[in-house]
This record gives sequence, structure tokens and C-alpha cells, in this order.
Amino acid sequence: MIDDCQPVVEILELEPNEYIKFNLRNTNITMANTLRRVMQVEVPILAIDLVNLEKNSSVLPDEMLCQRLGLIPLTSTVAKEMNNVMDCPCDGACSECTVELTLNVRCPPDVNRMLVTNKDLKSSNPDVQPVDFTSFVPSGLDPDKYGGVVICKLTKGQEISCRCIARRGIGKEHAKWIPTCTVAMAYMPDIRINQEVADQMPSEHKHEWAECCPKKVFKYEPKTTLLEIERADDCIYCGECVMKAEDIGCDGLVSVKFKRSRNGTHNFVFTVETTGALPAEEIVLRAFEITRSKLKMMKKKLTEVAQSEDEEMHDDSEGQDPLM
Ligand code: SF4
Ligand SMILES: [Zn+2]
Repeated sequence: MIDDCQPVVEILELEPNEYIKFNLRNTNITMANTLRRVMQVEVPILAIDLVNLEKNSSVLPDEMLCQRLGLIPLTSTVAKEMNNVMDCPCDGACSECTVELTLNVRCPPDVNRMLVTNKDLKSSNPDVQPVDFTSFVPSGLDPDKYGGVVICKLTKGQEISCRCIARRGIGKEHAKWIPTCTVAMAYMPDIRINQEVADQMPSEHKHEWAECCPKKVFKYEPKTTLLEIERADDCIYCGECVMKAEDIGCDGLVSVKFKRSRNGTHNFVFTVETTGALPAEEIVLRAFEITRSKLKMMKKKLTEVAQSEDEEMHDDSEGQDPLM
């Protein structure tokens, strides 16, 4: 049985390679925002951090090429088990802390233009590969041609040859280690239609009013002439429905507020988009684990501080002259 006071996660939509939308109930803005920030900058993934450039005759300067390589998303489900380079007991690079990728491309002399994409990167670890975006190519276009992240363009005879080292890191260190595209968070809306006012409205006003919402939250059913709330989660609090109701002389038709639980806490709707480095749901699960371990550590430290203060007070009171 679910405790009314415990935070609860309810998954609303899930596309593992794209995004997850979920409802976080029974919590406050502080915890919800903590979770949002942890998802963005504390969940470790892999990214190219070191480039040994042997040849670069492209028009891109070396620094820019390395910067672009660093920003290529790599599948990072193994990042959780890997070591940070600084913490690894090895001398500098081993399979526990690094993954090697190579890029060797040359534009043939008889070809005018060649695209170098993330697909040209060859990884030494089958679990760590450049993220495959071919499923996002619109129908009608060739996925092999358009499904890669373009690193640069080469023309006749130009070439790039380099060895890249991917390491584990977090978004706090550099944006290339951020596993999310966006993390949107909003208060769950509490939308109510006043049926008494709605019953007095002519049908054409009902239809016009339902259509005014930019997110299509409301639906007008012509057969029953009822106004229904269809997609409350999509509300963006623009206030258009309230203003429209006033314009057509139906004050009080609708109220839009932040939803509150019975114990006074709030509910939030999260939409988390992944770069492809981790499945969307895994980003959320890892963020919960990290937040929990941070809170545990904080509790432990605070207990230690409180204990040491108690001991100091005890020592002070023992050393005092009782006649003073
Ligand atoms: S506040 Fe805006 S988005 Fe929300 S229900 Fe009203 S019109 Fe739609
Ligand atoms: Zn190592």
C-alpha cells in the first residue's frame, strides 16, 4: 500500500531512446528542483576527453575538431561500473576508466565532398558506441546518409586521423557529460470547470472557448454538449482560458491552480529528454540513487557535527567552577 506522505512517481509516457514524462507526487519544490539538477549535472556518462590528432587537413582548426568530437554522445550504460580516471588504481589509462575510439577518414580524389560523421568513429568497446540517430531521420530520406552527427566536411584528398580517449565524467565538470537535452519541470495543474456556469453557455461559446487553449487541454463534445478536461498535464499556465471565459461573459467558468496533495505538498510533471547516452528512465533512476546517497551523507555529517558540539558543551560544563 502506498503511504500518502511518501513521494510517488507515476510514469505518464516513455520512449526510452527519446524521453520520459512522469508525475512526481507528494514532494516540495526544493526536492523536485534537486532531482532536476542531479539529472542534468550529476549522472555520470562517457565522453571523449583526450584527442591525439595525427593528421588533420580539413578546414576545421584542430581545437574546433577536438571540441566537436568531445560533444558527440556515446552510449554510456557501462559508465556506472567504470572508475573515474583520478580514482582508478591504474597508471593512467585502462579498460576500467577509459575507452579508446579512432577516427581515420580520407576523401577520395575523385569525390568532391564527403561528410565525416559520428558513424566513422570506431570504438574499442562494443558497449560504448556513438549514439545511433538513424531512427530519427524523417521518412523519405536515406538514414545512412542523414542519420549521423556531422563532425566536419572533407573535400578531395583531405583527411583526418586521430585516436580519442573517452572518460567518465559529470555535467558539473563540462557540458559534454550532461546526459539530458532538456529537463522540464512544472507544477501539476488542478483545472476545474464550473458546471453551473458551463450549463448556461450556448453551444457555440462552448466550442469557441474549448478551442482557445493553445495546448488543447479541453474538449467540447457536440453530442452531449459537455466540456471536458482531456489533457490537463499539458497545461502551461498561460491563463488564456480564464481570460477567454471573461471575454465571453462567463466569469468563473474555469479555475487553474497548482495541484496540492492532502498533506499540503505539491505534484510536479517532469519531461526528461535524453541525448541517447543513457535510456531516459535510467537517467531518472540514477538521479534518485545519487540524490539518496547525497542526502544520507549529509545526514551523517550533520549527526557528527551535532555530536561533536554536544561533546564540546559537555567538556565546557565539566571544566567550569561550580561556584562561579
Ligand atoms: S492556462 Fe492556458 S494551457 Fe492551461 S488550460 Fe488554460 S488555456 Fe490551456
Ligand atoms: Zn584505469
